[in-house]
Amino acid sequence: MIRERELRRQIVQFGRLCYERHLLVAMDGNLSARMADGNILCTQAGCHKGFLDDEHLVVIDPRGRKLRGKGNPTSEMAMHIACYEARPDCMAVIHAHPPLSIAFTIANQSLAHCVLPEVVLTLGSVPTVEYETTGTQDLAEKIRPYIVEHDAILMDRHGAVCLGNNLMDAFCKLETLEHTALITKTARDLGFVKKLPPAEAVKLRSMGLKRYGGPPAAVARADELDAGLPEVCMGCDGCSAPSPTGIGPKADFSVVRVSSEAPPPGVEAIVMEEVLRALQGS
Ligand SMILES: [Zn+2]
Repeated sequence: MIRERELRRQIVQFGRLCYERHLLVAMDGNLSARMADGNILCTQAGCHKGFLDDEHLVVIDPRGRKLRGKGNPTSEMAMHIACYEARPDCMAVIHAHPPLSIAFTIANQSLAHCVLPEVVLTLGSVPTVEYETTGTQDLAEKIRPYIVEHDAILMDRHGAVCLGNNLMDAFCKLETLEHTALITKTARDLGFVKKLPPAEAVKLRSMGLKRYGGPPAAVARADELDAGLPEVCMGCDGCSAPSPTGIGPKADFSVVRVSSEAPPPGVEAIVMEEVLRALQGS
């Protein structure tokens, strides 16, 4: 078990990293870690996570009652407590406001698709929880069912909550989530997003849960077809996505390929030409 002094040092360090990596700004976000005695060390409400020091940390009991420290515990205390209650394996929680990931929720674009093999291996899919007012018990209750099978979730118009067996683990999941959003957005800007074939997604997720672990409920179902994967992936044809042209509800991109010789400035035009041809069935 990590001692309290080390946990304090890590929360200060990862708060600064979240700020430096543009995963939160100003008074956004909050970090916590479960201590050896079962109490929770968390950030104080209303402090800048990029400039934390020891006096910005508060100790609460598992029900949220303040035990030590200055000021009030984070306003998202209920969210953190829900994570520790639902997941006995969870030892650290980071809530941040990663901008691209949030933009996906505002644009009503799901990140719960199986696109990147490494992400399917380590994170599975990232569900988006429907909107609820920040800092409320209602928000904590909305995310609770998702926490059971996911280490990273998005909250509509709000941000991400990532669980880990230590602070580094939770931070890696947060970074991976935002990196996935960046790659997905870039691919979409270039023309389209090719999803992994469902059979490959299932194989990768099963391998990942066995090799790297994950939420115990998902690990226990590692051999089941839908272990930790969303319905959108299980039901998809492997390569379809909403039409970027606005023509028709869906386009089948399995027939769309971009020439590897295409010069970078022309890539988008070539993709659009092929998309239009595919839509017209030629
Ligand atoms: Zn927030």
